[in-house]
Amino acid sequence: MEYELNDLVEMKKAHPCKKSKYWQIIRMGADIRIKCQGCGASVLFSRRDFEKRLKKVVKHGGEEHV
Ligand SMILES: [Zn+2]
Repeated sequence: MEYELNDLVEMKKAHPCKKSKYWQIIRMGADIRIKCQGCGASVLFSRRDFEKRLKKVVKHGGEEHV
């Protein structure tokens, strides 16, 4: 699955706040930081863990895939 900085993604697990099931990719390097769209909390994953937990890319380069 392809993903880029600023993409909106859905993970297999929603954030415990339950306000939103979507996350935005806010930093991409060796690690990936995503931000909960419900409460703004951010979580850091290694690329490998991120890919394991990624369910789908909801918005990629301006195109919606909902
Ligand atoms: Zn949250």
